Amino acid sequence: MTTPVSERQSPETPVDELIPSVDEAPGSRPVAWPHRHLLDVDALTIDEIETVMRTADAMRQVLARPIPKVPALRGRSVTILFYEASTRTRVSFEVGAKNLSADVVNIAAATSSVAKGESLVDTVRTIEALGADILVIRHPVSGAPYLAASVFGGSVVNGGDGWHAHPTQALLDLYTMRQRLPRGSVAGRKVVILGDVLHSRVARSNVWALTAAGADVWLCGPPTLLRGFDAWARAGAGGRRFTVTSSVVDALRDADVVMALRIQKERMTGGLLPSLREYATRYGLTRERLSLARPDAIVMHPGPMNEGVEIAPAVATGAQSVIADQVANGVAIRMALLYLLAGART
Ligand code: ASP
Ligand code: ASP
Repeated sequence: MTTPVSERQSPETPVDELIPSVDEAPGSRPVAWPHRHLLDVDALTIDEIETVMRTADAMRQVLARPIPKVPALRGRSVTILFYEASTRTRVSFEVGAKNLSADVVNIAAATSSVAKGESLVDTVRTIEALGADILVIRHPVSGAPYLAASVFGGSVVNGGDGWHAHPTQALLDLYTMRQRLPRGSVAGRKVVILGDVLHSRVARSNVWALTAAGADVWLCGPPTLLRGFDAWARAGAGGRRFTVTSSVVDALRDADVVMALRIQKERMTGGLLPSLREYATRYGLTRERLSLARPDAIVMHPGPMNEGVEIAPAVATGAQSVIADQVANGVAIRMALLYLLAGART
């Protein structure tokens, strides 16, 4: 048994010593992390997800200090290259990297200048030539971080690509659930992801993370916004099981976690929804609907929220909401991942 992190901490404790060791070889970093990149959660085993969670516990302790800064990534350079709007994700990567003493370069690229795949490759090569060790990339095209990883000599972190994946969001969501659920586990818990599943990279990455952790995952929304997920569920998603339904009542009944997703108006084409008002009436997470879930169920949302559409304002800010915890945990999770990836390369 390792001593719980909380019992070993003093204000001066270096972050390496806060993290329970899985590789005690002298001179090595305390955690052996086998992945050079983080492109999606489907590449992570449950033990690796556990390592991320434990590392994030240590990072939360760092964040609780009066000066939340450790030298773990001193001399390393992190470049944040975002081709899509973002506040939370970009800022939490930046704050996290700075807390680890990395040098941070922020590039907000206009989507129009990267219409061709070739220019993404050029940009990544330039960033590498300028000395970046870790590249955090967000891109509207699914798969763009994989292309970046194929040409970049350091580590690539996917900060969200198209409809495909948002691995750091899924990991911070899992972390938040474990923090807030009784007994700290999602195994066997009913987790409902409600809303615009079709356009959601958050939903896709959460399916991987949550099924790996043994949750009973339900995806719910209008049939037009669940297209393709039934087939994925029937195909067994690599041995993982989850339920797809358009019945809000079936989904919410006795749920332990309800995660509302933003209606992604900017990605909506071809009349998938009659109107936002109709959506709010039939699928919006109201107090009445939430009362179908367990009384101690928690409410989540990855942000940004359309209050009054997918979630009622009273639910978003109500006693069951852990939305603010998601944002706070985002910094700890991103610090954990940057730390692990930096270690993987030494
Ligand atoms: N889609 C954005 C993100 O993931 C939301 C926000 O930044 O507020 O960061
Ligand atoms: N912030 C999340 C994302 O970037 C969810 C959203 O944008 O609705 O995918």
